[in-house]
Amino acid sequence: MDLKSMTLQELEECMKSLQEPKFRAKQLYEWMHKHLAFSWDEMKNIPKKLKEKISDAGYVMYGAEKEDCFVSELDGTRKYLFRLYDGNIIESVFMKYKHGNSVCISSQAGCRMGCRFCASTLGGLDRNLEPSEMLSQIYAIQKDIGERVSHVVMMGTGEPLDNDRNVLRFLELITSENGQNISQRNITISTCGIVPKIRELEKKHLQITLAISLHAPNDEKRRELMPIANKYSMEELFDACRFYFKETGRRMTFEYSLVAGVNDRPEDARELCQRLEGFSCHVNLIPVNPIKERNFSQSMPKSIMEFKKILEKNRVNVTIRREMGADINAACGQLRRTKLQSEK
Ligand code: SAH
Repeated sequence: MDLKSMTLQELEECMKSLQEPKFRAKQLYEWMHKHLAFSWDEMKNIPKKLKEKISDAGYVMYGAEKEDCFVSELDGTRKYLFRLYDGNIIESVFMKYKHGNSVCISSQAGCRMGCRFCASTLGGLDRNLEPSEMLSQIYAIQKDIGERVSHVVMMGTGEPLDNDRNVLRFLELITSENGQNISQRNITISTCGIVPKIRELEKKHLQITLAISLHAPNDEKRRELMPIANKYSMEELFDACRFYFKETGRRMTFEYSLVAGVNDRPEDARELCQRLEGFSCHVNLIPVNPIKERNFSQSMPKSIMEFKKILEKNRVNVTIRREMGADINAACGQLRRTKLQSEK
C-alpha cells in the first residue's frame, strides 16, 4: 500500500481499482519520482478529492525526513541522518566527484551480517527498508542540494542482497525513464557475498556494478573478519563472480579493507594476487575505519603502499579508496548508532 514503491503499471492498476482514469497514475508517478514530491500538498494538479480518496483507501507514501546533516569543509561531502515513518534512523552520504554527484544509500536499518570491523551490524538488524525509503534518501538529498544525482552506491548500512526483493524494485524505479532515469551502469551494489543471491542476480542480466567485500586472501582469514565466510567459501564466491562476469560482461570490484596486522602483510597481498589471477576485476583498498567497539586499527601508510605495489606488479587493477569528508568522518554505521544510543 506504499505508493512510492509502486511501478507505473501498478499505479495504473491502483487507479483502475479506484475507478479513476489511467493518466492520473502517470501524474502521480511523475510527482513522486520526477518532481520529487514528498507530500500531497506539493502535487498541484491532483484534485483534493482524489488525494482524499487515495488516502482513505489506505495508501501511504513513505519518505525520509532529514534529521541532521554534517558537511565537510574539505571536499563538500555531506553525511545525512534521515528519520523514517516508524522513528527509525538511517544514514546516507553525498559525495561530489569530477564524474558527477554520487549518493551512498542504506538498504536496511541495521544489519545482521556481523562483519567484525563494521559499526552497522553492532545492534543487529532492525528492519528492511522499503524501495521508497531507498529512493527517498536520494530524492531528499537531491532536493537539499538542488543538483542532480548521477551515481548511486549501495554501501551504506545493510546488506542489499539480504533485502534483494526491495533492492530489485528500487533498481527498477530509480532507472525508470518516467523518474530519475539513472543509468544502471552508474549504480553499484556492494555485498558481503551471499552466493545464492549473486546467482539469482546474474539471471537478471543487469548492467549494474557488483562490488564484493572480500577483505581477505583466504578462507581462514576471511572467517575471522566476516561470519558469512563460514557459509560460503571463497571458491564458491569466485565461481559466482566469474559467472556474473560471463553473463553480464561487467567487471567486478573487490573491496579489501586493510586492518593492521590482520590482512595487510606482503604475503597477504601475494596470496590475493594468486587468487585473482585471470579475473577481470578491480581491487579497491580501503584503510579500515576503526570503531571504538573493536580494537582493529588502520594499516600504516607504508604497508598500504606496499600492498598496492605488489598488486600492481602482478597486473591486478588496484586503487586506494580516497577518504572523503575526513573531518566529518564516522565509520560505516557510526552516525546512526550514536544517534540511536543518544535517544535511548
Ligand atoms: N553489506 C554490504 C555493504 C556494506 S558497506 C557489504 O558487505 O559489502 C560497504 C563496504 O564498507 C563493505 O566493503 C564493508 O565491508 C566496508 N566497511 C564496513 N565497515 C568498515 C570500516 N569500519 N572500515 C572500512 N571498511 C568498512
